[in-house]
Amino acid sequence: APVIGVLALQGDVREHAAALAAAGADVRPVRRREELDAVDGLVIPGGESTTISKLADIFELREPIDKRIAGGMPVYGSCAGMIMLAGEVLDGRPDQRGFAGIDMTVRRNAFGRQVDSFEAPVDVTGVDGGPFHAVFIRAPWVERVGAGVEVLGTVTEGPAAGRIVAVRQGNLLATSFHPELTGDRRLHAYFVNLVRGVR
Ligand code: GLN
Repeated sequence: APVIGVLALQGDVREHAAALAAAGADVRPVRRREELDAVDGLVIPGGESTTISKLADIFELREPIDKRIAGGMPVYGSCAGMIMLAGEVLDGRPDQRGFAGIDMTVRRNAFGRQVDSFEAPVDVTGVDGGPFHAVFIRAPWVERVGAGVEVLGTVTEGPAAGRIVAVRQGNLLATSFHPELTGDRRLHAYFVNLVRGVR
């Protein structure tokens, strides 16, 4: 089985670990460099991106993670994890910094201005079986994507209709929503397959 780490600095680590294990991965928490070195892919959980950013520096994981990303390691980030994978963050804290990730601009807490959390159906390109029941919790949305970024999903109804909420650039995958909080394992299965293909 592919070895997939969950960045275990802050956030819903346990939920991602359970979803990855159900999708067939050998799951490991990652807090130290040696643990990062041992994984084929990495998940950055939902939580609080400002805290994850700070802890990535304190745990001396920022440079090692950037190097692994440059080396092609697959990474999937949900919500705060999406923010950590964004090249540019609007409405972020001045000191927060993402990894060397996806060529996109995200707006932090974007949906939160209208509603703190909501749910909506979201179709994700490349994932069969109908739309996800997407859960958004003080979630970011994507305001700009570079030429190399594939939009995989947008909100289709309600006040946020048209907003980009799932993207992929090469081996980097990000969603505004939290499939780890629902019983739906299709996105984790998609990521496990991506890691299998790269390993
Ligand atoms: N608002 C959080 C942040 O800025 C993200 C929320 C989440 O991950 N559910 O990091």
